[in-house]
Amino acid sequence: MKLNLNIQPLNTWLTVKNEPLIISGPCSAETEEQLLTTAHLLAATGKVSVLRAGIWKPRTRPGEFEGIGSIGLEWLKRAKAETGLPIAVEVANAKHVEEALAAGVDILWIGARSTVNPFTVQEIADALQGHDVPVLIKNPINPDLQLWIGAIERINRAGITKIGAIHRGFSSYEKSSFRNEPMWELAIQLKTLCPELPILNDPSHICGNRELIPYISQKALDLDMQGLMIEAHIDPSTAWTDAKQQLTPAALAELADRLTIRDPEV
Ligand code: PEP
Ligand code: MN
Repeated sequence: MKLNLNIQPLNTWLTVKNEPLIISGPCSAETEEQLLTTAHLLAATGKVSVLRAGIWKPRTRPGEFEGIGSIGLEWLKRAKAETGLPIAVEVANAKHVEEALAAGVDILWIGARSTVNPFTVQEIADALQGHDVPVLIKNPINPDLQLWIGAIERINRAGITKIGAIHRGFSSYEKSSFRNEPMWELAIQLKTLCPELPILNDPSHICGNRELIPYISQKALDLDMQGLMIEAHIDPSTAWTDAKQQLTPAALAELADRLTIRDPEV
């Protein structure tokens, strides 16, 4: 059974500066200086095609940093104006969508904690009606392919055709060296059901630590995934969220240099 989706190829809506496609930036925008410095260093590597930063952060437990909020849109706009990089943010409700679109955000993404909830995804889809913005849809936190597909269908039915899926791994009770189990077979199944759907990989949230990121990134490319979303921070160990898994911009550049893309002719 093939999925009946109307999807535009990635290269028609996203300019890749340097293969492989890398979307990078901090897990969270923390301060204007942190975001701008990170953005400039990432842009200077020449390896990054899109700047990402979370400004509304879904946290598992209350009382932790829940994102800098709407002011972060102003910082992102400035980062875009100064570096020329298109900008991407996570949206989790209609208000986020409206604010992000009003601010001229280039790409929206739906996080793993939103993809699990059809009400949330439908609310986002309704807010997207009549807009033509690219939307990246992370897999749900739990290994449920149907929920992932359902979210993609809801956004597609709202008229969004510039869609990519992001494989960020799945929660599991098994003891593992990964923060989220890759369960590659689910991403592969999705590709089989919808060959025209671009699938990117997020090694940062799969690994949960810096050390494993090169291995997962290369494996994703070997499986023909079309790009990577990798968290990077000016000073990862002091990051307000996901400190263990973020790379410095220099480490990101080094990783990008070492990654190889399979020649489709071979
Ligand atoms: C993120 O990208 O910072 C994030 C919260 O990711 P996920 O939704 O994959 O957990
Ligand atoms: Mn994160």
